[in-house]
Amino acid sequence: MNVKTKPPVSDRLPDKVDAAEDKAPYPLAGRQAAPEGSIVRAGGVAFGGQQVQVIAGPCAVESRAQILEVAHAVREAGAVALRGGAYKPRTSPHTFQGHGELGLQWMAEAREETGLAIVTEVLDPALVEQVAAYADILQVGARSMQNFALLRAVGQQQKPVLLKRGMSSTLAELIYSAEYIMAEGNPHVLLCERGIRTFAKETRNTFDLNAIPALKRLSHLPVIADPSHGTGKREYVPAMAKAAIAAGADGLLIEVHPQPEEAISDGRQSIEPRTFAELMAGLKRIAQAVDRSM
Ligand code: PEP
Ligand code: MN
Repeated sequence: MNVKTKPPVSDRLPDKVDAAEDKAPYPLAGRQAAPEGSIVRAGGVAFGGQQVQVIAGPCAVESRAQILEVAHAVREAGAVALRGGAYKPRTSPHTFQGHGELGLQWMAEAREETGLAIVTEVLDPALVEQVAAYADILQVGARSMQNFALLRAVGQQQKPVLLKRGMSSTLAELIYSAEYIMAEGNPHVLLCERGIRTFAKETRNTFDLNAIPALKRLSHLPVIADPSHGTGKREYVPAMAKAAIAAGADGLLIEVHPQPEEAISDGRQSIEPRTFAELMAGLKRIAQAVDRSM
């Protein structure tokens, strides 16, 4: 080997793009824009403050009876928001895609009965207005994290957005997606770590605990942890929920189903209301240990 060979020209050129990004990587979502951290308010709930907020509910809104039953159970256990997909991003087009607007109406009914804030996914830029008419928080799912048309559309209205990390996305990509929403005029964004794809087969995804302190350092936006999708197995949800709070998460998103074995989607990672209530008691103690309340 000729040791005097010069490196290729591309390696010798300064990377101007990276240099520029280093100076002001995230003008809107970056920590420097609000060094004290920002609070996002939705349906009477404040995310990013002293309180750790828990969002719970089924993966999908399956029926009126199902969503009302879960809503009452999670409210009783101390959740502040109800989740449930009326529009579902399914891997196969041949599986249940959600009840659509009817599901949104049942969610709204559950809010009226319980006072819980409503979190539900929007998949299509053309449906942002419809979903926002019912929801308190619009979820942009992992599969949509870089759907830039959708990010712009949720940025052009003022309902808060729960932005989930793509399953193969870096933290920088997640924060840039938040920038897309904020650049359109909607500053109300929650970042959500929901696990990434790795070679590990024993869990559905690898819950990236590192992401929590890293996102808190890089951005001022509240960070929500989703140990349900993060692990994919209900027996691991309690441990990772506790770990997430200890790591500094501002909130949790947990899938709860009255009969997980019967669930149309994500039953394997859903916990029963009774388990959820027990978990909430344990989570309160973790929150206190890190000077938060629940
Ligand atoms: C969900 O929250 O049910 C969901 C589909 O999540 P993700 O987009 O993280 O897969
Ligand atoms: Mn799910």
